[in-house]
Amino acid sequence: MEGDYKTQNGNSGCRISTTKGFVFVLLAALLAVSVGILVHLAGSREVTCKVDLGSLSKVGWSSPSELVTQCGKLAEQGDSHVCSACPTPPLPNTPELEPETTPEPEKKKTPINYRLPSTLKPVHYDVELKPNIYGNDTSNFQMNGSVSIDIDVLEATDNITLHSDWLNVTESSVSLVSDQPVTPTVVDVSVINTTQFLVISLDGSLVKGSRIRLKMNFTSRLRTDRFGFYSSSYLADNNETIYLAVTMFEATYARSAFPCFDEPALKATFNFTLLRKEKHARNYTTLSNTDIIDTQPRDNGYVADVHAKTPVMPTYLLAFVVSDFRYVENVTYHGDRKVKYRTWARPNLMQNVHLTHDWGVRIFNWLQNHFEPPFPLYKFDNIAVPSFRFGAMENWGLATYREDIVYRPGFTTTNCYTWTGLVIAHELAHQWFGNIVSPRWWWWLWLNEGFAMYWEWILVTELFPQRREEEQFLVKLKYKAMLQDSTRSSHPMNNDKMESHAQIETSFDEITYSKGGTLVRMMSMFMGKSLFIQALNHYLKRHQYGVADHNDLFNVLTEEAASENRPINMTDIMDNWVTQMNFPLVHVTRSRRGVIHVTQERYLGSPSEQEKAVNDSSPYDYLWEIPITYTSSTEKNFTKSIRFEDRKWLKKTNKEGDIFDSVFPDSSDEDSWVYVNTESHYFYVNYDLHNWNALIKQLNHDFTVIPPINRAQLLHDSWYIAEAGRLNHSIALRLMSYLKDDMDYVPWRALHRFLFVIDGHLKRSVLYDAFRKFMVDLSKKAFDHYGVVSTETEVTVHRFQRTRIMKYACYYGNMKCQKKVLELFQELKQSSDNSVIHPDLRSIVYCGGIQYGDSENFEFVWSKYTEKAKSPNPELKKESGYLLKALACVREPWRITRLFQSMREGKIKKDDVLTLGKELASNPYGRDLVWNALKASYEMIAMSELSNKTVSRMITGATSSFNTQDRYVEIEDFMKTHNVTAHEGVFKAVLKKTKENIEWMDRHYTVIEHWLRETGYLQPVI
Ligand SMILES: [Zn+2]
Repeated sequence: MEGDYKTQNGNSGCRISTTKGFVFVLLAALLAVSVGILVHLAGSREVTCKVDLGSLSKVGWSSPSELVTQCGKLAEQGDSHVCSACPTPPLPNTPELEPETTPEPEKKKTPINYRLPSTLKPVHYDVELKPNIYGNDTSNFQMNGSVSIDIDVLEATDNITLHSDWLNVTESSVSLVSDQPVTPTVVDVSVINTTQFLVISLDGSLVKGSRIRLKMNFTSRLRTDRFGFYSSSYLADNNETIYLAVTMFEATYARSAFPCFDEPALKATFNFTLLRKEKHARNYTTLSNTDIIDTQPRDNGYVADVHAKTPVMPTYLLAFVVSDFRYVENVTYHGDRKVKYRTWARPNLMQNVHLTHDWGVRIFNWLQNHFEPPFPLYKFDNIAVPSFRFGAMENWGLATYREDIVYRPGFTTTNCYTWTGLVIAHELAHQWFGNIVSPRWWWWLWLNEGFAMYWEWILVTELFPQRREEEQFLVKLKYKAMLQDSTRSSHPMNNDKMESHAQIETSFDEITYSKGGTLVRMMSMFMGKSLFIQALNHYLKRHQYGVADHNDLFNVLTEEAASENRPINMTDIMDNWVTQMNFPLVHVTRSRRGVIHVTQERYLGSPSEQEKAVNDSSPYDYLWEIPITYTSSTEKNFTKSIRFEDRKWLKKTNKEGDIFDSVFPDSSDEDSWVYVNTESHYFYVNYDLHNWNALIKQLNHDFTVIPPINRAQLLHDSWYIAEAGRLNHSIALRLMSYLKDDMDYVPWRALHRFLFVIDGHLKRSVLYDAFRKFMVDLSKKAFDHYGVVSTETEVTVHRFQRTRIMKYACYYGNMKCQKKVLELFQELKQSSDNSVIHPDLRSIVYCGGIQYGDSENFEFVWSKYTEKAKSPNPELKKESGYLLKALACVREPWRITRLFQSMREGKIKKDDVLTLGKELASNPYGRDLVWNALKASYEMIAMSELSNKTVSRMITGATSSFNTQDRYVEIEDFMKTHNVTAHEGVFKAVLKKTKENIEWMDRHYTVIEHWLRETGYLQPVI
């Protein structure tokens, strides 16, 4: 699965992030204003649930008090499913501060077993589903279904326990036959909501070794939350809303479409029969994992499409769609084997699908030519779904995607354009990695996602080398994973705490995806790509149609290497990387020619984290098997290929050691340097001061000696090593200066995260003007080089770099940039549509037009926003989102006040209030006003329609860069003089963050001041 989108580099585009936090937060905010808010008090702990009363009716709780009680219980247990808006447990990567609450004493609870009993194993399912998506009354969108499951009895049992959720199982329809002499009778059918178990109790025991057939009928409403079997819609050219039904099952939502054994290891075959109306103006079709083999007439104008039997597969990869969509098709060949490759979209998007389709065919052919066993199905469908929760889903033979996969000239940003290739490669790679071999349990999700991530950028780099996707992966996603993995609350890649539905949902994070992808890359580099592919083919063949864990993978890789007389023990090298969280920081010191001394320690992102970690334990005592790849000023070879037998290691049994090689120069030569981790593996490298200074000198003298990704690594590593208190920040700051001559996107991209940190800390200080001038000069040459015009024929990294540099240049006050942006804004105003500006640049131009322009510009954007926000057309609505964010760029206090007033008067849609509040709170010119407004009207705002989360995000955003004692006292006083019960956790978190900011400033202010004086941007003290 590809995660939810999130703008990653500031473009209004669609690069993937696995973060779901924001989606849930938004959901919570929206639900809170549209449904009742119930508060459950459990002892001293308050659990607030925003309960969708409609969705709860399915579980049969009748009275409001029972709803409250059950909701609270589920929320306490971490089950946020029924109380779908309850944001517990904390979701990963939530970008804002999580409220910190005083920990409650641990209650002794019996652990809940979320796993199905191991007594039964499903073998085959026959499923028939009849969704109703016809007409315009969505409350009538129901589904009727029946299921028949052949089950092997592995151990004697007197009950059949499987999964069911959201469904109303007709108790009288539950029946059982068996091949044992006397088949027990069903005596009771019950649902356990916490575990989503359907328990069928029998009056006797099922005999070990027998086979049974379980049948039942069920009904449900089609879901609308983009999980399970749900209804979606699009707008036809005549403005008619057309509905479709589509699925999204991973991880645990197949159980809400039909009762099933919904665990990844419980694989079976499936026959799906999907009913659709035959005589209907929209000409509906059905799709599933396999082709249609028969169509049979049914009552009331329906026909039944019978789909071919699937391979042995897990439930989470099943899929079906009922829609009026169209497709384009190619026939692909693998030897004599034909596979139909099709790309589907709504009819009024079909004219744009050809690029998506052509890329898909190329990628699919590449995979077919490299991996065995062959793709087992006779067709592969890809469908662009108008309303899809995640980026995409790899259902076997029927991959589903967001509509952003369809490239639309003049509308699609470069981010989305490049994402298209990556996401197709990701989902197609899953057809082997995940679909043919699946994880034994969700603990090993990285075996799916790490491989899909790895192959997505390997494949796109192979097909489109000029996009430099491997470098982009390292500088964007590897670093993102390392940030998440820099705390004690991180988790190992083998995520062995994942049991409940809610816990499993949190597994889809940067550690699983991007750390997973980085470590797969590491294994591939140890073995060499061709031996690695050869070994993976053996892994796929050995475990095909089965399941695997990390040991299964490492064993095959080790055996395959041994068969080629290569002494690579993958378990020995990799087990420590996947069973313990975090990663190492390697310190390199030089003393004499021909040797470097290396030591390793667990990296944690701040001194306070390190203090708390003193007594932490781990299977390998937080030591790792670290490949030490290197070059030096005498060699300057960053790309040499290294045979495994020639690799140097810092062993997991040693904290330190010496590495000997004649390429290491004498440290008495002040210009000489060594560079460690040339292959960019998953750790940071620190050097002695002499070496850092020599590297800085090299960058300033001739940075081209060091490749872009290795330059990026110096910038990024030095900053985060300094943040951890292991290096003076002056090194990281001095490293940046060379960028004034570097035009390349990759090193600039490495600057992105920590530049934001510096900016936030300095914004209110007297140093800011000097820092601002430094940034104007740093980006000047690049701005002049790239200009302000993007074209579709340009290399994509150049387009990315232009957008980035324009943002820096304009934001920090490059007058030429601001003037150019205003000219572009004028072009926009005078044009009948916005296609005069490349999609990458629209948000910058809208924002700049407001920031540097007059009131006329503000009014222009405001009128465009109000016009587009009202439109039922989703593309215009999307455009209104950019316009709304542009409005939040405003700098004049009276306009900010006007936006507040518009929010209160309902002139801004409820859906947009959260976005606007958040954006204003992060606007340096707006956040003080947001804070002042919050202070002045706190009680009123707290009691308003805005959800707790919306207000929390505004509080957090407005105060995030408070870094003085005065501000700390101000918040403390505010908490004493106001009833902040509803946001107490948030305010406590703000106090904690403010304290950390004060400490940061105490530690680093003088260093930054000194650096700014040294660089000439701050006048010397007279
Ligand atoms: Zn995936």
